Amino acid sequence: MIIELKKNITADKIEDLALQNRAFHIQNIDSDFLVTSASVKTLNDGLSAYAEKHWVFENDMQLSSRKFKNSTREIQLKEGLSIGGENKNTLLIGGPCSVESEAQIRSASELLQGLNLSVLRGGCYKPRTSPYSFQGMGLAGLELLSKMRDEFGHLIISEVRDATHVAEIIAHTDIIQIGAKAMYDQGILRACAKTQKPVMIKRGFGTTLQEFAQAAEFILSGGNSNVILCERGIRTFETKTRFTLDLCGVAWLQENTNLPIILDPSHAMGYAYGVASLTKACMAMSVEGLIIETHPDPSTAKSDAAQQLNFEEFRALHSELEPLAKCLGRNIK
Ligand code: PEP
Ligand code: MN
Repeated sequence: MIIELKKNITADKIEDLALQNRAFHIQNIDSDFLVTSASVKTLNDGLSAYAEKHWVFENDMQLSSRKFKNSTREIQLKEGLSIGGENKNTLLIGGPCSVESEAQIRSASELLQGLNLSVLRGGCYKPRTSPYSFQGMGLAGLELLSKMRDEFGHLIISEVRDATHVAEIIAHTDIIQIGAKAMYDQGILRACAKTQKPVMIKRGFGTTLQEFAQAAEFILSGGNSNVILCERGIRTFETKTRFTLDLCGVAWLQENTNLPIILDPSHAMGYAYGVASLTKACMAMSVEGLIIETHPDPSTAKSDAAQQLNFEEFRALHSELEPLAKCLGRNIK
């Protein structure tokens, strides 16, 4: 249950009510809310005197539910740039799977600058399936990304693989990416709840939509209202493509949750040849963002070589997306 409290209740009393009801206390600009488990269906006597309004839920998808907040949350990325809310912005996030060198990440920044795009991606802590594969540049990579932010003004998104370096990721990024394999990590989720930076959670490849929404609830209930969901493909019986992009699931999330959505066709497809047409299909769903891997020379990439677009392909994709965005009334950022 979510309870909106009456105004002018003292801070001590609110903390007392939260403690007694085992509830999270969430504050926004003009109201205080308590959030209990969804198994609580009625207001008890102790609470009803302080409640302005309350919402009852079928399950623990509460703060992320459209029943609580009907419009898509607006997430401000920087002054003059936000996604969700009333605006019709769709981010076209580009950059390599992994940061590999200064020259490589600078070339990706130049590519984005030439297209007027706002957000640069690049992984530094890579969640590889083999310990013998390239694991990412770590902190040195994050420092290169920060350098690109300073030189080009791009916002930086990079993934957190485990809780040991979550503080570094929070410090160096503008949008924190929680990887598909990391989205159940409570240490990461709880740390991301304590910052106000936007967090993009990638759906695990065996994660139900309910579990996905509940991962978001860990961050929302902990006090960070800036959560974005990212569908990047789930595992099905099909093996010809790397994963299966669950666009039906996206329609469900758009209908039932108030969180902005970013789609990742690169990881879903796993092969560069399908990425451009899938990206257009994703754009047609009027999502808040698209995240595409692009590399100056994909054949030499240290991770996800098969799926990365070269820069020419990325530019061609951008020019094909422009008229589509116009037709949908959306702005590519
Ligand atoms: C990535 O974005 O490069 C990545 C590893 O993604 P995911 O966590 O979806 O596998
Ligand atoms: Mn990748």
